[in-house]
Amino acid sequence: MQKCVSVYNSAEKLIADVIKPGLCSGCGACIGYCPYIKSFGERVGVVHDCRKSEGTCYQVCPRAVTNFADLRQLIFGDEETDPVIGGNRGIYYARACDKLARTSGQYGGVVTALSIYGLQKGIIDCALMTGGSFTGARPFIASSADGILACAGSKYTAAPNLGLFQEALKNGFHNIGVVGRPCQCTAARKMQQVKEIKGERIPLIIGLFCMGSFSPEFYRFIKDKGLDEYEKIDIPGDVNFKKGNKETILPYDEVREYIRASCNICFDPLSELADLSVGSTEYDYGWNTLIIRTDTGAILVKDAVADGIIEIKEYPAPRLPLLKKAVFNKKKRVLENPDAAYLKISNKERDFFLANGGSA
Ligand SMILES: Cc1cc2nc3c(=O)[nH]c(=O)nc-3n(C[C@H](O)[C@H](O)[C@H](O)COP(=O)(O)OP(=O)(O)OC[C@H]3O[C@@H](n4cnc5c(N)ncnc54)[C@H](O)[C@@H]3O)c2cc1C
Repeated sequence: MQKCVSVYNSAEKLIADVIKPGLCSGCGACIGYCPYIKSFGERVGVVHDCRKSEGTCYQVCPRAVTNFADLRQLIFGDEETDPVIGGNRGIYYARACDKLARTSGQYGGVVTALSIYGLQKGIIDCALMTGGSFTGARPFIASSADGILACAGSKYTAAPNLGLFQEALKNGFHNIGVVGRPCQCTAARKMQQVKEIKGERIPLIIGLFCMGSFSPEFYRFIKDKGLDEYEKIDIPGDVNFKKGNKETILPYDEVREYIRASCNICFDPLSELADLSVGSTEYDYGWNTLIIRTDTGAILVKDAVADGIIEIKEYPAPRLPLLKKAVFNKKKRVLENPDAAYLKISNKERDFFLANGGSA
């Protein structure tokens, strides 16, 4: 019997392919183009039928059909890219020079420092960021150094901050930076391709490393455990809650169930499509790992170093195989997951991960 195929490549398909199966990453990219899609905290929902044959919502969703190979080609052209860590023009340790950015930041404060610098240099006039706290993340349009500083620190849930893109345009911003998880960087690259929504007004994408984010149920867990009195959360392996000298450490297994299903099909733990990717070093928490990916990212870093905004040092050679192994294993798991059908990569790349039994 012939299968019935929807002719609506819009909200109806978004519901069928992404929202109903629980695969929404909470990036927010589908919000703001029509009155039918709304976010409720960190949940995204379609509140009315839509019969458009092509909808921006589906086009920009990072969990709708995503040709990762095409997106890479768009950003890196014919440049050779590393199949594991992606296109890069250098990988470094980095930290902010400014003490406030460092102490406010999750690790070395590089994202905060570079975002403020981007604003000061006029590369962006605002950035879509994640404010609030780890007990309640909030999408935020940051258009001042203070606003950016207020967003410092990781919230390990999923604020749909791309949903503020249209609002930022309405508010008169022309160059809208994006700071986000890998799914948000993918969505932002897709948005850049859509003229109707003025996606070309995204000049800078700073991506975070991300092995997974928690569903909103995590907030209830924190509250029930009485952990909401802490100021900061960190996940160097186990889950650390910190306030001054006080610290509570939970085994990761206690929170594993809160990881969003969407993260289990994420092929991109290092934000490969961003201009710059920033993560931890995994052992020195005063520094970040910084991957320079594009010309835009390279120029920003070069100028920021010259102007004393961030300092960088060589990435220790023995760390690279460890990083690559973690990413390789994550990508392999995703390719083995039948729910990752949205992802299109070349057969050559697929074979690299599936035939190569775990050694990157
Ligand atoms: C859900 C999540 C999972 C992560 N997993 C890893 C990991 O496995 N390994 C690793 O090395 N690093 C991971 N990171 C990145 C790490 O926590 C730091 O964000 C990164 O190293 C930048 O550090 P920084 O000191 O420059 O940050 P800061 O200068 O403090 O800047 C942090 C920026 O992150 C943004 N932000 C905070 N929370 C979110 C969120 N939920 N979604 C989108 N943007 C947000 C803020 O707007 C802020 O601009 C993760 C981050 C998140 C949000």
